Amino acid sequence: MTLTPRFTNPATNGHMETLAADDSLVWVTHPSPDLYLGDEPVARSQKTDPELGRRVAQFLIEKGVATPQVETGLDDTQKRTLIAWHFARIMEALGLDLRDDSLAETPKRVAQMYVDEIFYGLDWRNFPKCTTVENKMGYSSMVVERNINVQSNCEHHFVIIDGRAHVAYIPKRKVLGLSKINRIVEYFAKRPQIQERLTEQIFYALSYILETEDIAVVIQAKHYCVKSRGVEDVNSDTVTSKLGGVFLQNTATRSEFMRVVNTVIAP
Ligand SMILES: [Zn+2]
Repeated sequence: MTLTPRFTNPATNGHMETLAADDSLVWVTHPSPDLYLGDEPVARSQKTDPELGRRVAQFLIEKGVATPQVETGLDDTQKRTLIAWHFARIMEALGLDLRDDSLAETPKRVAQMYVDEIFYGLDWRNFPKCTTVENKMGYSSMVVERNINVQSNCEHHFVIIDGRAHVAYIPKRKVLGLSKINRIVEYFAKRPQIQERLTEQIFYALSYILETEDIAVVIQAKHYCVKSRGVEDVNSDTVTSKLGGVFLQNTATRSEFMRVVNTVIAP
């Protein structure tokens, strides 16, 4: 069964689900005109490479580490409009007065934040441009990028995952600009995530781009769904890692990487 959102004349308020003639579930929404967000997306600092994004997305599917997603056919404006409409319903259900001038614009702000900022990494067309250069000098030692900022959201509660990533690779034929590693981490963090999958997605994206499995990814993060609710453990954090190639096979390489990373992790 496919979910087909349709945008119709907003004259009728309300929201309903009906079965279409072809038996697909038609999701009819009538966002009010003032929730319509026609603005251009917030400009992101990075340049994108949609074609690379499509190939990386396909590779992640093959590796079984893709984010569970369905194609909605919605463009960003439609997404913002739909999210704003639904978020207004959430606020109403919570008993918040949307006529209050402090709250009135919140649905729009949340919609814009979801689509253009904290979840922009759900769209493979936003994948960062990652031009590689040929490894002409034959550099074959470990390259480590430490303390990469990880700001993500857990997919179970939609609250913050806040941490750091440490990424290492040993160049084969290709070398990647170091800031591109940060961009790739950021791109995959900007989705609803679980830390394990985030770690794997970064690993395989780099593996695809650098054409090597000699890659190590470690993420250390605090989950605010643990910190602020549930067990309310304010001190615990979660460490995940994915090691490939020589990082997995060679004890000395692994120890060297862990030594570098542990000097960072230790307080
Ligand atoms: Zn959670």
